[in-house]
Amino acid sequence: MESQKKFPPAFSFELFPPQTPEGVEKLRLTRQQLARFNPKFFSVTFGAGGSTRERTLETVLEIQTEGHVVAPHLSCIGSTQQNIRAILEKYYEAGIRHIVALRGDLPSGMAQAGEFRYASELVAFIRQEYGSSFHIEVAAYPEYHPQARSAQADFDNFKRKIEMGASSAITQYFYNADAYFHFVELCEAAGLNIPVVPGIMPINKFSQLVRFSDTCGAEIPRWIRKKLEGYGDDSESIQAFGLDVVTGLCEQLLQAGAPGLHFYTLNSANLTSAIWQRLNLHAR
Ligand code: FAD
Repeated sequence: MESQKKFPPAFSFELFPPQTPEGVEKLRLTRQQLARFNPKFFSVTFGAGGSTRERTLETVLEIQTEGHVVAPHLSCIGSTQQNIRAILEKYYEAGIRHIVALRGDLPSGMAQAGEFRYASELVAFIRQEYGSSFHIEVAAYPEYHPQARSAQADFDNFKRKIEMGASSAITQYFYNADAYFHFVELCEAAGLNIPVVPGIMPINKFSQLVRFSDTCGAEIPRWIRKKLEGYGDDSESIQAFGLDVVTGLCEQLLQAGAPGLHFYTLNSANLTSAIWQRLNLHAR
């Protein structure tokens, strides 16, 4: 973890583009609440295959107009170079200089991968077209990506994204700090000199967490799963226990030198704000 200590801690909040006018209003409120914490940036997700293209663009440009730093996600699977170039051009013209570059997952029913197969190809494309204009974040998987052929192959693929020019990484969420510490040690041993910021998923609803985790390959440790299961429909107890677990995890990560935290807010300020206040992040 030594290499991570030299990066100043950066805290960021992930949002997704809302689908309805009520969702847009709610997100404005969420943003107002979270903006008080002065995050390094807000990021906005992007549906692979361009499914949220317009909504992501609108949300990103609105946040930029509000005067916050915003990092749009860009997933390349199912896209052409022309499409990706057009989106990047819009962001560049709007003064955006921070991108989260991803492969994404092909939406069901979309058979063609398009002109990009992996996130490393998107990173290479952005660097080829825009040089060093953008700060490029990529995804990292301390518990390994569910489609990876092996742990080593997945790490080699991660390394390729950095070699192609990624500036920093945000991890998939995890509840087992050792997986993150091990991943950072691998980065150090491979000479990868970039911040690897832990992605933090507050615990809200048990069924939702299980669904997300099954899809993305994040492990819910047995003791946490058992406790959450035991609460049944008692959402107050689930959230209270979740806050204890996640705050403890963040504390452990920061104490060990993690270069910040990236919160998967799911467009709600409550749990993220509670964790922030418990950690007293203002003071860090
Ligand atoms: P890659 O880095 O391309 O890796 C995908 C898989 O391919 C891995 O198993 C890897 O080992 C393998 N691989 C990579 N290169 C090669 C190669 N050359 N040969 C063989 N195998 C290879 N999804 C969205 O759709 N929209 C979002 O906004 C979004 N935001 C995210 C933000 C974060 C911080 C994270 C962690 C994930 C996000 N995702 C998002 C999910 C992500 O798109 C999926 O996890 C997706 O399955 C992989 O994307 P990637 O960029 O990690 O892909």
